[in-house]
Amino acid sequence: MTRIVIIGGGPGGYEAALVAAQLGAEVTVVDRDGLGGSAVLTDCVPSKTLIATAEVMTSFDSSYEELGILVADGTPDAADPARVVGVDLGKVNRRVKRLAIAQSHDITQAVTRAGVTVLRGRGRLGAGGQAMDGSREVLVDHTDGTVESLRADAVLIATGVRPRELPDAQPDGERILAWTQVYDLEELPRELIVVGSGVTGAEFAGAYQALGSNVTLVSSRDRVLPGEDPDAAEVLEDVFRRRGMNVMSRSRAESAKRIGDRVEVTLADGKVITGTHCLMAVGSIPNTADLGLEEAGVAVNDWGQIKVDRVSRTSAPGVYAAGDCTGVFMLASVAAMQGRIAMYHALGDAVQPLNLKTVASNVFTDPEIATVGYTHADVTCGKMDAVEIKLPLRGNPRAKMQGIRDGFVKLFARPGTGIVVGGVVVAPRASELIHSISLAVDNNLTVEQVAGAFTVYPSLSGSTAEAARQLHIRKREGAGS
Ligand SMILES: Cc1cc2nc3c(=O)[nH]c(=O)nc-3n(C[C@H](O)[C@H](O)[C@H](O)COP(=O)(O)OP(=O)(O)OC[C@H]3O[C@@H](n4cnc5c(N)ncnc54)[C@H](O)[C@@H]3O)c2cc1C
Repeated sequence: MTRIVIIGGGPGGYEAALVAAQLGAEVTVVDRDGLGGSAVLTDCVPSKTLIATAEVMTSFDSSYEELGILVADGTPDAADPARVVGVDLGKVNRRVKRLAIAQSHDITQAVTRAGVTVLRGRGRLGAGGQAMDGSREVLVDHTDGTVESLRADAVLIATGVRPRELPDAQPDGERILAWTQVYDLEELPRELIVVGSGVTGAEFAGAYQALGSNVTLVSSRDRVLPGEDPDAAEVLEDVFRRRGMNVMSRSRAESAKRIGDRVEVTLADGKVITGTHCLMAVGSIPNTADLGLEEAGVAVNDWGQIKVDRVSRTSAPGVYAAGDCTGVFMLASVAAMQGRIAMYHALGDAVQPLNLKTVASNVFTDPEIATVGYTHADVTCGKMDAVEIKLPLRGNPRAKMQGIRDGFVKLFARPGTGIVVGGVVVAPRASELIHSISLAVDNNLTVEQVAGAFTVYPSLSGSTAEAARQLHIRKREGAGS
């Protein structure tokens, strides 16, 4: 029986464990903090649970007047962000933690039921390299100080990342916070400074603004979400500002200092901003130190991320890596796919190399921003020859009925064949609406095929079909000219 040892029990690790067990291997998962990993315990699941509360509050608060809903007399003025609905953050956070722990428990049960051995501890590669039989040693440092040695025919490293900290802005868990610490707050931060305007910063800034905090978003770049579609980022920044968020562009935070019950954030230009709390969202560091990688011949890049190929192999025979610690595409879905691919490869099953061009991703702000396939940047830099169409949602009948003004559907298609190669949806629940475009990209569907499928009337997805129709007409006109 092939022996598999997996270090790290997040989506990269536990999904791989399930597949390996199904394929008949003897599987051990070594995890430090609990199965589900950061995805379940501190990152994805908790943040999306917090955002679920924020979403209900924004959708009510931003549309009740237009939709004719009456609120009780004496409700404070519209300028007060928490005027109609308020939040009990302690209760929200208790729910967040309950859900995260329950999810971790469910995963542990599913993995153990599949016959996988789960060990709580810190895993690392043994120094000896490969033995004569091709196996490797994995050492497990248990919490009681004992060290256990395991032998594995293949090892998967899926140790994830942790929040990056600036030397002069160390989180204290009370006023200066890493994103993993916000769920201990009992009261809503009155004035929250969010440092970092990537996906994590934008999601938290939007959520806390919706919950009722006065938010300042400090962005070192020209605009929020520098890695996303520029039109989508522009919509979001505009919405943020309209809702009263103070978005500071081209402002690099150098330090955050706690002064009593306040926090002072100093920017690179010497300007000082203050708030009651500060959330640091300035990227992440891979958990790859002290794993014995160098001694085992596992190559890492300058950022400490493990180098892998498209079937998750590292530079050391028999050692695979998956998920955020590889830096390939920091999503739970990609981590899980990399982990499964590693196991298919290690156990000699049919394997499809990882294809990043069909990955669907979403920024859970309000509106959400969902993306799949080739992007505007790919088209403008010449990586993909595609025509592009953007259809604002304000012309969509369902959007009008629901009082939705912000957002659009964008499609990218090959000029000759009309094959859909990418798309962006900016809308409430864009994470659900992107699926039809995802299917089109994954199956090389043409704009005619997307336009030809029925959509419900009235529906936001009608805009996807309409965008495809307009691209079809543009293609005909192009062919005729
Ligand atoms: C705030 C936030 C929100 C996010 N939201 C989403 C989202 O909505 N959708 C999405 O797809 N992605 C989201 N992500 C990204 C997602 O969380 C990661 O891509 C995912 O967690 C990666 O999974 P992983 O298995 O690589 O690592 P992790 O989930 O980080 O798991 C790694 C595990 O390894 C353990 N470990 C580390 N070192 C060792 C060791 N030496 N020995 C034993 N165990 C060890 C850790 O304790 C942890 O349990 C979000 C990220 C953040 C920061």
